[in-house]
Amino acid sequence: MSLGIPFLEKFFPDESKKTIKKLLPLVDKVFAYEEELKALSDEALKERGIALKKEVMDKLEGKTGEELKHEERKVLHEALPLAFALVRESSRRTLHMMHYRVQVIGGILLHEGNISEMRTGEGKTLVATLPAYLNALSGRGVHVVTVNDYLSRRDAVWMGQVFDALGLSVSVINHQSSYLYDSTQIEDKDQKEDDKERDDVGSYKIVYDYLKPCTRQEAYLADITYGTNNEFGFDYLRDNIGYNKEQLTQRAHHYAIVDEIDSILIDEARTPLIISAPAQESSEMYVTFAKIARTLIKDEDYTVDEKQRAISLTESGINKAEEMLGISNIYSVEGMKYVHHLETAVRAEALFVPEREYVVRDGGVVIVDEFTGRMQPGRRWSDGLHQAVEAKEGVKIEQESRTLASITFQNYFRFYEKLSGMTGTAETSKEEFYKVYGLVVTPVPTHNPINRTDHSDLIFQTEKGKWQALAKKVKELHEKGQPVLIGTISIEKNEAISKYLEREGVPHSVLNAKNHEKEGEIIAAAGKRGAVTIATNMAGRGVDIKLGGPNATEAEKEEIITLGGLFVIGTERHEARRIDNQLRGRSGRQGDKGETQFFVSLEDDLMRVFGSENIKNMMGRFGIPENEPIESRLVSRALEGAQEKIEGFHFDTRKHTLQYDDVLNQQRTSIYNKRRRILFGDEGIVSEVFADLIALKPEIESLIKEKEEKYSKEAVHHIFRIMMLQVIDTLWMEHLDQMEHLRSSVNLRAYGQRDPLVEYKKEGLRAFKSLEITLKNELASFIENIDGFFASQQTRAQTDFVQVIPEAPGADKSTTLSDGKLKAGRNDPCPCGKGKKVKKCDCEEYKYLRN
Ligand code: ADP
Ligand code: MG
Repeated sequence: MSLGIPFLEKFFPDESKKTIKKLLPLVDKVFAYEEELKALSDEALKERGIALKKEVMDKLEGKTGEELKHEERKVLHEALPLAFALVRESSRRTLHMMHYRVQVIGGILLHEGNISEMRTGEGKTLVATLPAYLNALSGRGVHVVTVNDYLSRRDAVWMGQVFDALGLSVSVINHQSSYLYDSTQIEDKDQKEDDKERDDVGSYKIVYDYLKPCTRQEAYLADITYGTNNEFGFDYLRDNIGYNKEQLTQRAHHYAIVDEIDSILIDEARTPLIISAPAQESSEMYVTFAKIARTLIKDEDYTVDEKQRAISLTESGINKAEEMLGISNIYSVEGMKYVHHLETAVRAEALFVPEREYVVRDGGVVIVDEFTGRMQPGRRWSDGLHQAVEAKEGVKIEQESRTLASITFQNYFRFYEKLSGMTGTAETSKEEFYKVYGLVVTPVPTHNPINRTDHSDLIFQTEKGKWQALAKKVKELHEKGQPVLIGTISIEKNEAISKYLEREGVPHSVLNAKNHEKEGEIIAAAGKRGAVTIATNMAGRGVDIKLGGPNATEAEKEEIITLGGLFVIGTERHEARRIDNQLRGRSGRQGDKGETQFFVSLEDDLMRVFGSENIKNMMGRFGIPENEPIESRLVSRALEGAQEKIEGFHFDTRKHTLQYDDVLNQQRTSIYNKRRRILFGDEGIVSEVFADLIALKPEIESLIKEKEEKYSKEAVHHIFRIMMLQVIDTLWMEHLDQMEHLRSSVNLRAYGQRDPLVEYKKEGLRAFKSLEITLKNELASFIENIDGFFASQQTRAQTDFVQVIPEAPGADKSTTLSDGKLKAGRNDPCPCGKGKKVKKCDCEEYKYLRN
């Protein structure tokens, strides 16, 4: 049986072969629509697309939760052949490309929630359109994740036309800006020109006429949203520290396709996303409250419950505090955080005794374990208590920058109901993808046979020798006309090599991953005759290198092929084999001819740290000059062994990060869910919390009734909600601090043969329970003092959320217009009023809109 995929038989591991063979009947069904759809007019094609969406949405109508997921799986599976066929046809008309069989296979794998491993140049950008369209049919949004902002704009403009022609909306979320794919451009009379330009240059250049600025919310309401992992992640975090439900951006986490998934879920997964507060709580605040606490008198200004280890302020205590603070009502919306500090300061004063609960050592407050009496350096109390005790003792108050919210990429991406990814290099991280994300990696055969020669490494004794030899080689290739791409691991190395090439008189471009857009254009031209390009491994990422240049004629392309195709030179082995493979993958796209070779030296970091002494001695013994290489299997193997070791080490680090974040993740989910329910006005949450409070303090029940009668139920609940948000956020922030401290202190304690993770879980749980208790206590005290709040509210026009949301990285300025500048799309009428479109206008005033 011919599979229609010539290269399946030869290279493939049995497992993947089996997976792929099973998909072939489905691929046939997709192709079977080809003629029928070709015959349709553009309008009829769009109608077909819209009708399919309606059909899918009708079938899912009214379903929720598990039932929805289940039904959606079924319905989308049925819709797959037609949906994919529509995308192929739309792509043929708009992009003049039609998905190959292997691309359809890649698309099915993505739809099924796997990783499609497809080599560089196989057209993964196009592959993603298939599952993106299909999964957008249920109207719940699809996120396509790219490694940088530039690529997300490029992909949206380039691929946007495929979706647009089928009636779907497309958007981009970027750092501080968002765009909608502007379909009005299609009806424009200048369209032909722009569209032609886009088809020619779409793989590396963005034609901005197709992007119209929009708000973050609008972007997320689109059927398909392109954006980076950072932006998606930060939006999630921002949504969970926001105070205004109108400003929430994201819808559900339905389906994500992650391009270059290994870069995102592996390379970037070692550090979590963090939003931290710029302004810290001032140390003075703690000092002030410590002073106040000292003047308050036990049993007169406050009472102590030794058993519960809690205090209660009396009327007189509150009055004294207000007087000292110079505010008239501490129980007001603005005053609430003072209440927390005041209570904490009084607790520190009344319940925490030096040499019993803590000792002062080396200018710090050290906790004494209540059971063993041992000192616990490095541990800190939560909820601002530690700072309160420090203030009471007059020692330095330790204030780290405040984390408002944080999440690892692992945990962010696990939110998606369905996750999928594509990359050219997943194989060496298969285990991690499966263990952490439950993602199966399936290699997909190439469309054309691979025609690239990977030469074995050249090994030099010194770095200098290596660079001399490298520059000589590049000069040779350049003179011959064969294009060269030199990959490095850092900007610093880029510069070093650049100097050597200058000395040899070889003209070249240097890409440092600083301006992705500009560098995209340069890298797109890296396949031109005689081109020499030096790039770090993130530079020019995702942009295809065509032999002969982006718009090469057949003859130009042929010439480069005769010269041997693109020659990729690696200047040292990276820590991970995956990254080396990414570099090699720049050459030999779509069956092109090409060559790759790594130049390494015994002075490279990898060799210095992991290379064996044997190799060094051996080379010394042979008396080889420093710029003469040896080619040795032994050395190459040693290098690969070292890489494997480091990969394993990094895997462990990420596993660790994740295991720790998992502890926090449960707590975060619980807090954020609560928050969301409050924000969206869920009545249930108020009753639930009231019930909790009543269980804690039965007398609250009648108090609530009384207040509801006095101020109306709505008013009481409304203000209670605001208060809950504030208290939750304050406590959660403090909890995050506490957990960070815990994290470092459990590692110190590991010496005691205890498993730090187990300790962290245990202590983390304890801290969270304490947070919940504090939360209840503060809310109860709020109810008791609610009259004060209503009194202070009367001067206010309306009770609304007053806390300012701290600016987080990437906050979308386009919605707030905080820079005072107007935003308009290039196709909108220019605000100057001359009556031309922005892009055609020549006014000075709004020139910035044209750039
Ligand atoms: P990858 O992301 O897999 O490295 P790209 O998406 O950048 O690859 O695409 C590489 C090149 O292949 C692009 O220039 C694109 O135009 C071309 N290409 C992809 N699919 C097809 C196709 N079906 N027909 C013709 N050209 C294609
Ligand atoms: Mg790509």
